[in-house]
Amino acid sequence: MSDNTWKKKYLELLDKQERLENNFNKQADVLKRGLIRSSLAAEGNDEQLDQQLQGLRNLLRKQADTHELEQHINRLEKAILQSEKKLQQRREGLSNTLTYFVQQLLQLQPPKDIQKSLRAFEKNLHKQLAKPHSLYPALTQLKDLQERVLSATVQVEKTPQAQPGLFSRWFKGSASNSAATEQNQTQAPAELVHSSEPEPPTTALAADTDTDTDTDTDTDTDTDTTIVAAQPKSASADDTYAIPLLVEASYSSVALHIHNTLTTLLNDLPITAKHEQQVIAMRSRINKGLNWYELAPLLDELSIIVLAIACGQEDDLEQYLLQLNHRLASLHDNLQVTSIGYNESVTAAKNLDHDLREHVSNFQSDVHSANDLVELKKRVDSRIDTFIGTLQTYQESRERTDSVLSERFQALAEHSKQMEKETQLLSTKLEEQRQKALLDPLTGLPNRAAWAERSELEYARIQRNQSSLLLSIIDIDHFKRINDNYGHLAGDKVLKIIAQELNRRLRKTDFIARFGGEEYVILLPDTPLESGLKLLNTLRTAIEACPFHFKGELVTITFSAGIGQVANDETLEQAFERVDQALYTAKNAGRNNVKTAS
Ligand code: GH3
Ligand code: MG
Ligand code: MG
Repeated sequence: MSDNTWKKKYLELLDKQERLENNFNKQADVLKRGLIRSSLAAEGNDEQLDQQLQGLRNLLRKQADTHELEQHINRLEKAILQSEKKLQQRREGLSNTLTYFVQQLLQLQPPKDIQKSLRAFEKNLHKQLAKPHSLYPALTQLKDLQERVLSATVQVEKTPQAQPGLFSRWFKGSASNSAATEQNQTQAPAELVHSSEPEPPTTALAADTDTDTDTDTDTDTDTDTTIVAAQPKSASADDTYAIPLLVEASYSSVALHIHNTLTTLLNDLPITAKHEQQVIAMRSRINKGLNWYELAPLLDELSIIVLAIACGQEDDLEQYLLQLNHRLASLHDNLQVTSIGYNESVTAAKNLDHDLREHVSNFQSDVHSANDLVELKKRVDSRIDTFIGTLQTYQESRERTDSVLSERFQALAEHSKQMEKETQLLSTKLEEQRQKALLDPLTGLPNRAAWAERSELEYARIQRNQSSLLLSIIDIDHFKRINDNYGHLAGDKVLKIIAQELNRRLRKTDFIARFGGEEYVILLPDTPLESGLKLLNTLRTAIEACPFHFKGELVTITFSAGIGQVANDETLEQAFERVDQALYTAKNAGRNNVKTAS
């Protein structure tokens, strides 16, 4: 081969090499650009990954060498793996949150077909969220379901002004169709509308403690306790027994606020020595941590203390006693002066008597010693003048004393009238306070303190008269479920209605009190055990027949009870113990029944 041929071949290869290099550089450029743009597009999912992508872009832009790039790509790979893991966790969290949301919608008890769709949605949720870009369609689907649930709920509730729910506010377009979840959350506490008071049973008697539903038609003085059961009513027609739909805030969401408020209140209250121990016990209850049910009795207790302090009940009494002391002192002064006046008048009368006797004896001696009639007449005239003078002086002094005395008597009468009025006022006020402290604020029934007082009285009566007394303890069955299913405010409403239902079926001479929580106690004086048992069973069936309802569905509430005769030779506590044992037996026997104490 000639030199020329080699040269030509060499130049051709050089050209080819240059073309290949150009081509490679162009491709590397395109790849770099592509990588930079892709890395920008991939940003925004994970902070660490974003940092690595940013680093990669910097290396690419500054034409870093292969070794540097290789090291960075290794780090990027790790960041991508970590990001994948986090994404998986996020999906699971999201799936759990949406499942919870579906559960909440199901609790609103929508019609069956919507329930079915909700369950299908819940079942597919995990799989659906595993697909990329699945969040938006899933949320849209859930928003539609929420709208269906709420509009069905609104139809049932007939809520007048529906407000858009949370999801609908996210998806503004269809907000107008959604309903009142939020409204329900902020709605006023369980207001069961008392549109129609149920017909009182023919022989139902209102107890003397009845406060608000006093349909007192009592003419029955018979000791027999035959009671007619309440008429069962149709569930949907009677709003009295409606259990309202209420979504309550959890206690924990307000616990800190309540704790701080109560602690500040207790610290700021001007506690008297009388309440000191009680307040210390309350503080320790608050510090241990409260829940809804412990809060209610604590507030009751606190309100009694605050009332006592605010009304200045004790100060008032002290003040009044001081005043009374002053008045008694001035009364005493008045009496003393009056008696001095009286003594003075007694002395004056004695003096007059003495003077008159002296005048008469002078007359006699004048008569004896007079020598002639003219002299006698002169002496008598002069004596009569002195006599009249003495009488006049006495009369004037008497008039003065009388008017002073009568003024003093008048003042005395005024004083005692005023004192009587004030005493009357104070005793009325004290009685009012006492009555207030004896009532359970939720049900309006006598409370435990009233129970202690009345049961002692009735117990003393049977000891004195050899009469009889029945004691019964009632405990609502599974009441915790009512709170759990419908909220404690609805539970409170149920407690109140049951109290009224029980109360209005008792005689005037019977006594019912709220013993605490969901327990009521009843005293039936002069009632044979058999009649008492019959009455308790009547009460039981009446409560069972109360058409409580929640969103159109009937909710049956029952109670169990124990009943027994208080024996003469046992203490009240022993009787209570036996009846409580009977209640326990009734619970164990399946609830919704009454057992007699052994
Ligand atoms: P049982 O049939 O055994 O009596 O079951 P129960 O759930 O009724 O009994 P338990 O003693 O376990 O629960 C009683 C519940 O009553 C506990 C508390 O949640 C509730 N409760 C007590 N006082 C009140 C109250 O003032 N208002 C409300 N709403 N609930 C109360
Ligand atoms: Mg109980
Ligand atoms: Mg109970």
